This record gives sequence, structure tokens and C-alpha cells, in this order.
Amino acid sequence: MLTSIVTMLIAGFSFANSVEIIKGHRNLTEYYIGDTNLIISVPHNGLSSPDDIPDRKNGCKDNTGKCIWKHNCTTPSTSCKPTTVTDSHTRKLAMLLYESYKNETKRSPHMIISNLRRAKMDPNRNRQEGAYDNTEALRVYDDYHGFINQAKNSINSFGLLLDIHGQSHAELWIELGYLFSREMLNTNDTNPETSSIFSLSKRFKNVTFENLLRGSESYGKLLDDLSYKTVPSPSYWSPGNGRYFRGGYITQTYGSRNEGEIDAIQIESPRNLRFTPALRNKYGKDLGTITAQFMDKYYKRQDSTDPTSGMNGLNNARNTISLYLCLLISVCLANF
Ligand SMILES: [Zn+2]
Repeated sequence: MLTSIVTMLIAGFSFANSVEIIKGHRNLTEYYIGDTNLIISVPHNGLSSPDDIPDRKNGCKDNTGKCIWKHNCTTPSTSCKPTTVTDSHTRKLAMLLYESYKNETKRSPHMIISNLRRAKMDPNRNRQEGAYDNTEALRVYDDYHGFINQAKNSINSFGLLLDIHGQSHAELWIELGYLFSREMLNTNDTNPETSSIFSLSKRFKNVTFENLLRGSESYGKLLDDLSYKTVPSPSYWSPGNGRYFRGGYITQTYGSRNEGEIDAIQIESPRNLRFTPALRNKYGKDLGTITAQFMDKYYKRQDSTDPTSGMNGLNNARNTISLYLCLLISVCLANF
């Protein structure tokens, strides 16, 4: 009897702390099911390279000059060249962010990872360019986006998606993408309605959009404060002549530019912060801490619609039952 009670206790505690991971078709995608309103996406660090899924090669142009993305098209064009480079170490970086965020908040973010090499499938492009006409690649692509939608639907309120990438630009800065091009940032052509954080700007009308985007109230400011060279941020207001990525398909599709309450920021990390283990470890942990601060400031929910409140209730109930069982065991041991 005592053994079975102890087993129940251990089972109860481990269940409360465990995270369910769903694998997609052929284990080529993974979804860590979260219990809070943060989603992490890792599209470009897949290492699986199955032979039956062909590499994405140059597509063909149609009569209007548009690229047709399919395998074995009749006249491949060099101007329809897909990007296939891997964002090395971004999976490790995302895991550090994930664990650090969990330690800070006792909440699990949702996390979606592609395990398929980018040369085979790219979740950060539209379906045609991302998976061409290969049935297997299309299934994996659909899994990835299905998982993001599943995460979004489970949040059912405001939230934030961080799309984790890596670049090799000479500036060695962290590039935060809100869908504004380099030119737009350089010329202050920053209309909140066209940004991936439009919903956030509507919820915090007392903060100027410029401050939210790159000033004292921005995600960039938090990185800036820890001496990470970041654009846009108070120290690097705009990229100038430097190279900069504005945010791709995932940021465009799942951010709040078009609709909804989920905002998105593309985080493009430089080589030094990804390839050097000591720097990567510190940076990954700092990303978790910063994200926890940012979420606490802008995405904290006090009302009953918070999906985490249900989880809290469940965990509290488990802990209460466990406490009673512990007391029961203590009484039994004392008496016998
Ligand atoms: Zn990327």
C-alpha cells in the first residue's frame, strides 16, 4: 500500500513537470506543447536528409516572370534559385531560450521545430516555394504549419511568436524583424498597421510605436541593456547601410499585421553568438530572461481566459492531493 502511494506521488509530480512532445510525419517535425502564450519556431536547423525527398533546385519562370517552384520543370532559371542554407545551432539556441524561459516563469512555451534539411523543405516560404510538388515534403510542411496553428488556437488570446534564425552578416548584430525593410527603418517609414506587432501597439496606446519598436520600451532595448549589438534598438536605431533581414513568411503569416492578437518577431542571430559554445550558452539563457521580462510587461493575463490558469488549477489540485497523501503516510508511519 505504502509503495503504491509513493508511486502515485512520484507519478503525480513528474506529470505536473513533464512536457508532451508530438512528432509529425516521419518524425520530421516536433511540437512541444506549451501551457502559456509564447510560441517559439525553429524552421531552419533541420539535419535530416532523406534520399526520397529531392533537393529544391532552381525553379522555372512563367510568362509573367513569376517563379514556378517545382522539381524537374522544363527550363530552370537562375533567377528562381531557392535559399537552402542551414541556420546552424539555432535549435540549440532555441532550447536554451526555452529552458531559461521555463526556469524564469515556471511556464512552458509552445515550440515547433523542423528536423528536415532546408534544402528539402523550407517552412519559412509559402507552400509552393517551401515544399515544391513533392508529396512527402508537402506533408512535413503542412505538419509544421499545422502545429503553429494548433499552438495559436490553444492560446485563443494575445500572445507572441518568436521565429528563431541565424545569419552571417558582417555587422555581427542581432536583427529583430518586424516586417519593416532596411529602407523603411532608415527613413522612419514605420506604420504600426504594417508591422508584425500591430496588436501589441493597439493594446498599449500610451506607448509610442517608435518606443515599442526600437526605443525605451522595445525588445531590442532589453538586448541592448545586456550589451548585445541589436538592430533596431536604442543604440542601433536603423541598419543604415548594414545588412538586415526584415522578417519572412512565418512572421508575415502569424504576426498581427493582417489580423489577430498574436504578434511575431523574427530573431536573426549572428554567427559569433551561435557558433561559440560559451557565448551561445550565455546568449540563449539571456534570451529566455529577456523574453520573460517582455512577456511579463506586455503579455501577462490576469483574467480567467488565461489558458495557463486551467493548468495552474490542475497542478494545484494535484499538489493538494499529494500533500494530503504525504500527511496520511506520516500518520500511518507514526502509528505503526
Ligand atoms: Zn533562417
